[in-house]
Amino acid sequence: MYDVIIVGAGPAGASAAIFLAKAGKSTLMFDNGLSVTRRALIKNHYGAPEITGPQLVDTGKEQASQLGTTIVAANVTNIRQNGEAFTVDTDQGAYEGRQIILATGMYADLAEHIGVQIKPGTEPRVKTIVDATPQGKTSIPGIWVAGTVAGVSMHTIVTAGDGAKVAINLLSELEGARHVDHDAFKPQH
Ligand SMILES: Cc1cc2nc3c(=O)[nH]c(=O)nc-3n(C[C@H](O)[C@H](O)[C@H](O)COP(=O)(O)OP(=O)(O)OC[C@H]3O[C@@H](n4cnc5c(N)ncnc54)[C@H](O)[C@@H]3O)c2cc1C
Repeated sequence: MYDVIIVGAGPAGASAAIFLAKAGKSTLMFDNGLSVTRRALIKNHYGAPEITGPQLVDTGKEQASQLGTTIVAANVTNIRQNGEAFTVDTDQGAYEGRQIILATGMYADLAEHIGVQIKPGTEPRVKTIVDATPQGKTSIPGIWVAGTVAGVSMHTIVTAGDGAKVAINLLSELEGARHVDHDAFKPQH
C-alpha cells in the first residue's frame, strides 16, 4: 500500500512526487509515455535557459526516483475506491494507494471514467479538465488533480509549480499543519 499514487510523470506529476517522496511518503508514479512535454523545446522555464522536453521530463523523473519514488511504465485504466484507500488498475497489474493525484496532462479520459467531476477546458486546445478546488481536490475525497488536466496555463513552469502546490496541500492535510520543505545553503568562506 503506497501513501500516494500519482498518474502521470510530466512536470506536474514528477514535481508532486519530488515533494512527497522527500517528505518520506511512499510514492508510486505511473507514466504511459504520452507526456506532451516531450515534444517541446523550452526557453521560458526559470533557471533553465534552454532545455528540451525529453531532458526536462527525464531529469524530473530521475530526481523523483533518487528521492525514493517508484516509477512504473504502465497505462492506468481504472481507479476504484477500496474502503478508505484506492485500487489502481493498470495494464501491468493492480496497485493500492491511500491518496491519488491525477496529473495526466491533456488526457481527461481516466478522470471522466472514474467519475470525478469534469468541465470544459479554458486553455487553448485543452478540451476537458477536472473540476477541482483551488487546493487541487476533486469531487472524490482522496483524489487530487494537478497540471494541465487541472486547467492551469499550459507551460512547464506553471504545471510543475501546480504539482508542487498540490503535493504541499496534500502533505499539509496529512500533517495537520502547513508543510514547508526548506534546505538551507551554508556558504563556505
Ligand atoms: C509542441 C509543444 C511545445 C511546447 N513548448 C513549450 C514551451 O516552449 N514552454 C512551455 O512552458 N511549455 C511548452 N509546452 C507545454 C508544456 O509541455 C505543458 O504545459 C506541460 O509540460 C504539461 O505538463 P503536465 O505534467 O500537465 O502534462 P504532460 O507533460 O503531458 O504529462 C502527462 C503525463 O500523464 C501520463 N498519463 C496520461 N494518462 C495516463 C494514464 N492513463 N496512465 C498512465 N499515465 C498517463 C503521461 O504518460 C505523462 O507522463 C509545449 C507543448 C507542446 C505540445
